[in-house]
Amino acid sequence: MRILVLKFGGTSVGSLERIHNASKRVLEKIREGYKVVVVSSAMAGETDRLINLARQIDAMPSERELDMLVSTGEQQAVALFAITLQKLGVPAVSLCGWQVPIVSDEVHTKARIKKIGVQRLKNLLAEGYTPVVAGFQGVTESWEITTLGRGGSDLSAVALAYALGGDCEIYTDVEGVFTTDPRIVPNARKIPVISYEEMLEMASLGAKVMQARSIEFAMKYGVRIHVRSSFSDKEGTWIVPEEEVMEKSVVRAITLERNESRITIVRVPDRPGIAYQVFKALGDAHIVVDMIVQNVSHQGYTDLSFTVNKSDAPKAEQIVRKVAQSIGAQEVVRDDRIAKVSVVGIGMRSSYGTAGKVFEVLYRLGINIMAISTSEIKISCLIEDKYGELAVRELHSAFIEEGEEVKVLNEP
Ligand code: ADP
Ligand code: ASP
Ligand code: MG
Repeated sequence: MRILVLKFGGTSVGSLERIHNASKRVLEKIREGYKVVVVSSAMAGETDRLINLARQIDAMPSERELDMLVSTGEQQAVALFAITLQKLGVPAVSLCGWQVPIVSDEVHTKARIKKIGVQRLKNLLAEGYTPVVAGFQGVTESWEITTLGRGGSDLSAVALAYALGGDCEIYTDVEGVFTTDPRIVPNARKIPVISYEEMLEMASLGAKVMQARSIEFAMKYGVRIHVRSSFSDKEGTWIVPEEEVMEKSVVRAITLERNESRITIVRVPDRPGIAYQVFKALGDAHIVVDMIVQNVSHQGYTDLSFTVNKSDAPKAEQIVRKVAQSIGAQEVVRDDRIAKVSVVGIGMRSSYGTAGKVFEVLYRLGINIMAISTSEIKISCLIEDKYGELAVRELHSAFIEEGEEVKVLNEP
């Protein structure tokens, strides 16, 4: 049995016509002889709409209730998808996460998958049915509905492909993974093959075409992913192990993250245990912290800044205010108007001069850098939000369009 998991993102199921188009793709794959499992996101905009409704009532709604609410978006989409497939003559059954089951931990709004039951799916496939699984959602061992973090249908698809021993195709509204967001830089290039490592960095740094956690999962379990457009038949991007990537660019892609906030604790006493108290409290609240900057101290005091996802920012601010008070800091300031631009590429490991060139591009644009972070395959700079797109365009032009870098071919 050749199994294929086909995941359709929000835009690809954004209207009945688009669900029909997606269903025809499923039908083609079935005709080619595959057993298909469909994973669907909510219709475009639905998740945001539901979150906004809840936030109109309370800026920090209960996360359990948020999961109850947003999971209905995918439930609607899979039912409409299954009805469309049936109309096309394909026996189909829609399933929520709990009906598979996709079992997760209890961390609402960003739960992790712990177990996947495949018997029901296998039985359905053996009986000739096409299961249509609601992406983004799981169920805890005590039957609470959870969601897997924004963009989490990608993770549902990758995890099901692994569990069923099948391949994974991600259908989205662009033709694959590009050298940067093609909506910001129209002449961005499609990347035919990319390593898990680079894709993971890109996804973690704001390229929302794939959810970061789904790539982490794919890398850990060796699931090969083909990202492609649901509106064209063109070959998309293959995400594979690094050994299979022949061409290693110094800078493969530029990313922009606009979804973070910076929180600064002003005039913190500079003594052991302060950072521990702040970040332990945030960790206990399941808040992921990104960049951390602590300035050199003056007269025993320093400023401590860090960034978190915008959706976690009100909660993080509340927690940090309490800690700040207990440690005698002066004040806590939150800034939502920041952006992070990054250059990513595995070739950076063995090249030099990349950081200097990034800083030069930003300097020539008159953009001030508020924080820098690096790993062996990326350089990120925190800047003012209003310069985000400009910086991406100029970095793309300097590193990718000019294409002056030496490419290393992994061949004899
Ligand atoms: P879906 O609803 O199919 O999951 P998403 O909106 O989550 O789609 O992701 C696709 C979007 O990701 C594209 O429309 C594009 O604007 C954006 N994107 C950002 N960076 C990149 C990139 N490097 N390559 C391709 N798309 C990107
Ligand atoms: N509908 C969810 C979201 O908007 C999950 C997904 O699209 O992957 O985040
Ligand atoms: Mg997505």
